[in-house]
Amino acid sequence: MKKNNSQTKGKEWLLVETPYQPKKSRVWESIFALGNGYMGTRASLEEGFSGSKICPGTFVAGVFDTYEQNYQEIVNLPDYFSTRVTINKSPLNLSTGKVRKYHRALDMYKGIVTRSFEWKDPKGNITYFEISRIVSLKDPHIAALKYKIRPLNYNGKIKIENDLDANIGNIDFRVSGYQIGEAKHYHLEEYKKGPVGANGVFLTTITKTTKHRVCEAIQTKLYSKNIDILPSYRLNQKDKFISRTIEFDATSNNEYIFEKIVAVYGSRDNVKDLKKSAISKSKEGLKKGFDRLFKEHAAIWAERWKTGDLTIEGDSADQQSIRFSMYHLMQMCNEKDPYVNISSRGLTSEMHMGNYFWDTEMFILPYFIYTNPEAARTLLKYRYLTLPQARKKAKKIGFKGAMYPWMSSYPGDEQCFLWEYANLGVHVVAAITYGIWHYYQATGDEKFIRDYATEIIIETARFWESRVHFSPIKKKYVINTVKGPDEYGWIVNNNVYTNWMARWNLTIAGEIIKLMKKKHPKAWKKVKRKINFEGRESIKWRKIANNIYINYDPQKKLYIEHDLFLEREKVDPKVLKPGKQIATEAGATLDTILRCQIVKQADILHLMYIYNDAFTRKQKQIAWDFYEPKTLHDSSLSWSIHAIMAAELGFKAKAYEYFLKSSRLDLYDEMENTFLGIHSASSGGTWQAIVNGFCGMRLLKEGLSFNPSLPNKWNRVSFKLIFRGDLLSISIDHKTLRILLEEAKRSIKIRVQNRLFEVAPDKTKEIAL
Ligand code: BGC
Repeated sequence: MKKNNSQTKGKEWLLVETPYQPKKSRVWESIFALGNGYMGTRASLEEGFSGSKICPGTFVAGVFDTYEQNYQEIVNLPDYFSTRVTINKSPLNLSTGKVRKYHRALDMYKGIVTRSFEWKDPKGNITYFEISRIVSLKDPHIAALKYKIRPLNYNGKIKIENDLDANIGNIDFRVSGYQIGEAKHYHLEEYKKGPVGANGVFLTTITKTTKHRVCEAIQTKLYSKNIDILPSYRLNQKDKFISRTIEFDATSNNEYIFEKIVAVYGSRDNVKDLKKSAISKSKEGLKKGFDRLFKEHAAIWAERWKTGDLTIEGDSADQQSIRFSMYHLMQMCNEKDPYVNISSRGLTSEMHMGNYFWDTEMFILPYFIYTNPEAARTLLKYRYLTLPQARKKAKKIGFKGAMYPWMSSYPGDEQCFLWEYANLGVHVVAAITYGIWHYYQATGDEKFIRDYATEIIIETARFWESRVHFSPIKKKYVINTVKGPDEYGWIVNNNVYTNWMARWNLTIAGEIIKLMKKKHPKAWKKVKRKINFEGRESIKWRKIANNIYINYDPQKKLYIEHDLFLEREKVDPKVLKPGKQIATEAGATLDTILRCQIVKQADILHLMYIYNDAFTRKQKQIAWDFYEPKTLHDSSLSWSIHAIMAAELGFKAKAYEYFLKSSRLDLYDEMENTFLGIHSASSGGTWQAIVNGFCGMRLLKEGLSFNPSLPNKWNRVSFKLIFRGDLLSISIDHKTLRILLEEAKRSIKIRVQNRLFEVAPDKTKEIAL
């Protein structure tokens, strides 16, 4: 999609599709996807569409099934929004007849998608439709649809078929590559279904191997001018499908309102009887009605935006794009359920089989750490709950401690079937420790350290202890045969990012032991016993950490990404990546990629961002000059890090360019793969590009520091942060940083452009820039 296309029209809280864009339907399905952390639904057209392939997607977090050789894939569940309408025997289908005044909008403030249009059917009947949908934040089990239907030039019969449709499979990426072809595979079996009263139905299905049960129930009602219409409802069912059909006589220019309330329960929910729970929830929902359900849902969104928002004055498209990122992050996260996490595409598709990556700790988590620490804690607790499997994985491969999987679901076994990622993408292990430490530094949550984190950090240190070896040639500890963040390095020795993170992980393990001994001696004794910790382990860790090999050329002041990097052939990256497509899809062979000095995504630059004060400005600048021109940005994780580092180095125009790429990734379909869902890491990275990039926020031992440099066209950036239990309101323009510490009992210190300030509670402090 191009810039200034229809989706950027509208107000800053809105995303609008107008006119109708059938060729982009799958992209819109992702953009307008709704969710509440418990479940998510792609925005496929309720009535279906015969003009091109559509891709309905209904996912419940944690409902995985086995896909070949024991790998877990999130299951595409029965489509509960499927609702077919027939006007005088012409089925509503936007690829037939004529569509006028088409307008579909996502209101991100309220979490609702509304589509309105006039449809002239092939016989000339014109009908006005307005269809709204929500997936409730107030009650995670509820989703709802509301139709307004008005015949504009005829009296006639309108039929509405309310389906629960389990004729649905998962996309078979192995057959179609990362395209959506016809190939599907199916995870469901058993379809128990039946009527519920006169106007509802239910369908319970079960996943083939994991035996997750999911029950969906619907209730419907039809009314006009506030008076219920009680037409005769027919029941229609076949194999994997059940539907309630309403047919009624409609008169010209009368408005008919139809509501479909959906309730979903699965075996992961703590209820005795799924069917009973789903049915009673759907009835409860119908009693409230769509408008009240919506009001309750919107009230929770309003609450979330109070601390979750970030405003940009000066460019409404930029404002809209960051809202879009935050909106999706919020609806991807289940802040109450530590058994699930946020997948690379949230609950907007089955890409990457719906599994969880290092994306969470390094890209997504910071947004939650500073705006919703409870949610951040839940995301990290997931890693505690999956620690037993990480231990098993380490043991299986021949290492000590805990080796977290490259791709994870629950209970946390490795889900990546590619050996070189699963076994060699070890930087994920340190990413988990990094995420925990970041959370702890920003929240001061001692309880989390005491009850969960210590075990993880010690076990990950043990892993590194066993993963390094002493090289008699280098006379240093080395980490060979790894895949670093730059996956185009493929299999390398001494990826600096990985070695650095390992060293840090080993060091922090020593710190945490000291901290536990001092602050939580009783709990420490317990942990020590539980994991058989011996004092000499930490001595060994220190020795390794002090002697780990970091490939650095002191003459050139250049960190060398891995031991082979400089030996590879120099190429013009444009030859490998002429357009937007990633190099391998554009025809570059793996053989070429592995022979060349090219970088898939930020690697050394990522390291320099997260261990910011360990590097001099000169080293950062040299790394930028060396690696940035070689980087293909073939991962959505690349742009935001480049935006941050460019901002830090004072390359304002470049920083903004990279911010645009990251923030428009899905809105403008920058990688031409948004049809496969919303990129969660890039959404989190976009928030970091603003807060850590343009506002220059860094977390130092003493507290937060800012070094702002806003894009010229922005007048002001404002956001809230929750930091060590305090709520801060920050507002930055080109001349002043304003900070308000709300409802605190003591003052705090912040550093701005390297000057230290004291901020007293409840009084806005203005700091000249
Ligand atoms: C990136 C990884 C990332 C994964 C999931 C890959 O393309 O290279 O760093 O974790 O996508 O987002």
